[in-house]
Amino acid sequence: MSFLGEGGFARVYQVRDSRNNHLACKVVTKSSLKTKKAKTKLYAEIKIHKALDHPNIVRFVDCFEDEENVYMTLELCSNASLMNMLHRRRVFTEPEARFFMVQLIGACHYMHTHQVIHRDLKLGNLFLDTDMNIKVGDFGLAALIESPGERKKTICGTPNYIAPEVLFDTANGHSFEVDTWSIGVILYTFVVGRPPFQTKDVKEVYQRIRDNQYEFPPHRDVSLDARELVQQILTPNPKERPSLHNIVDHTFFTRGIVPGYIPVSARDAPPDFR
Ligand code: ADP
Repeated sequence: MSFLGEGGFARVYQVRDSRNNHLACKVVTKSSLKTKKAKTKLYAEIKIHKALDHPNIVRFVDCFEDEENVYMTLELCSNASLMNMLHRRRVFTEPEARFFMVQLIGACHYMHTHQVIHRDLKLGNLFLDTDMNIKVGDFGLAALIESPGERKKTICGTPNYIAPEVLFDTANGHSFEVDTWSIGVILYTFVVGRPPFQTKDVKEVYQRIRDNQYEFPPHRDVSLDARELVQQILTPNPKERPSLHNIVDHTFFTRGIVPGYIPVSARDAPPDFR
């Protein structure tokens, strides 16, 4: 059993099942589930994740408990997260960005048609399997929309990736479009190397999100198509944001190279897609 990583509540290990298949096992100590709220949240995460079945979503295998812990076995993502890969690479090429975006948008479209909003899409929650395919993970902040038009009111997400309506339209609430916003932040991060609204001070990050204040640094050679698509997605009014279909129809995708796969060597050096 080897240690893979830890998050807010869980420690994750690599394990083997009875047929010797490698899996990830997420362990949550019951002592961290003292409040009713913490328990409800974990059970909501399990219920939502268990119901999803898509090639670009981490597969939920099983769930069990003993006196001390709750265990969730998951599909193993042996090439870590895109956060980890970006740290090694600093920035991705636009063909790589297209490949990852197509898989991410496919997973997101599937979630939305199953009434699930992920609400925490970010590079650290996009894992990579042995073949460098994206697997969306960590449903700890996900929400199920139980009736059409239902709006969510809880403020959640990760500061850099959070949509303006989550922060500034608490009366109206938010819905599926918050994931679309995060997808825009992710695209910018792929091609620039850091998130658009990032600063040291969280308050200032929120001000920048409110003011839609970001720019493309002159030292990065980002195509006009990529800039235009980011700008369309990062529209402050959620009603005016493009649909996931509109996004993949943009010329950024239709006029550029979309590789069939990403080689594992891309974890350390840019592949040549000509
Ligand atoms: P939390 O919900 O507590 O934030 P995460 O689900 O983000 O926990 O997992 C924490 C860390 O464990 C991740 O950053 C990653 O390094 C590792 N990890 C999580 N799930 C997997 C997986 N399916 N395969 C491989 N590593 C994983």
